[in-house]
Amino acid sequence: MATIFTKIVNGEIPCYKVAEDENFLAFLDINPNAKGHTLCIPKIEVNRLFDLDSTTYEGLMRFCRKVAKALEQTVPCDRVGMAVIGLEVPHVHVHLIPLNEMKEMTFQHKTSMTAEEMAELAQQIQLNL
Ligand code: AMP
Repeated sequence: MATIFTKIVNGEIPCYKVAEDENFLAFLDINPNAKGHTLCIPKIEVNRLFDLDSTTYEGLMRFCRKVAKALEQTVPCDRVGMAVIGLEVPHVHVHLIPLNEMKEMTFQHKTSMTAEEMAELAQQIQLNL
């Protein structure tokens, strides 16, 4: 069965899109640790990061860097943190999280944003790509 992220790639489920190219997609995490928490995924459905072929892995890292630079310009933060977990969704995704405090990397600390705020933020990040 397709993962929820493949359904997002195929347009079957909506997302707050931040960036897209032929092979990768970035969208806001629906339950963000901090404002601007973004997920970068390869469009191909692979469960574990280090099982990606090296071209896709390296392309994903380049894509993440581009998105992180846009995030830094959009969301006031000390730096953008990066994490790969994948225990919830078995489709490779890199968490990019604008950080001011260590607790924002814990995944127990969450922030709430309205749908309108999420949509507006995604657009602002896109403008800085
Ligand atoms: P993990 O697999 O543990 O790295 O966590 C999966 C992440 O995906 C969590 O931070 C969720 O909030 C996020 N997530 C799950 N479903 C969606 C969705 N439909 N849109 C955006 N983010 C999602």
